[in-house]
Amino acid sequence: MRIARSGTEMQNGGMASEDEAHSMNKKGRKKEWCEQERQKLIVSIPMSHQDLRNLLDYLDREGAPQCNHTLKETIGFLKKRGLDVDRVVAWLHENGGYCDCEVIYNIDEKFGKFVGREKA
Ligand SMILES: [Zn+2]
Repeated sequence: MRIARSGTEMQNGGMASEDEAHSMNKKGRKKEWCEQERQKLIVSIPMSHQDLRNLLDYLDREGAPQCNHTLKETIGFLKKRGLDVDRVVAWLHENGGYCDCEVIYNIDEKFGKFVGREKA
């Protein structure tokens, strides 16, 4: 099991190794932008990282029913956890998760890494 990164690692240009400095040449600004985007994504998650991770694990579990093009499984999970269904569903929609399989596909792709669901 991996522990979710806290996002506190600070990377500033001065500390970069030479290799990194080379590859960051011209891409430095892009990297900064990515870092900002990353932070924005992380703070947008409307539940604890543990809850999101469990949600993704739950949807991705063995023997899960096939997606019927609704968020049935997702909403069932949120209700069971006492989470804010409306808020989470709005957030899922914003990020391309319109049904259970899209949550696995799009949300896991975008956010899974922040909550310790790193794929091989
Ligand atoms: Zn689906």
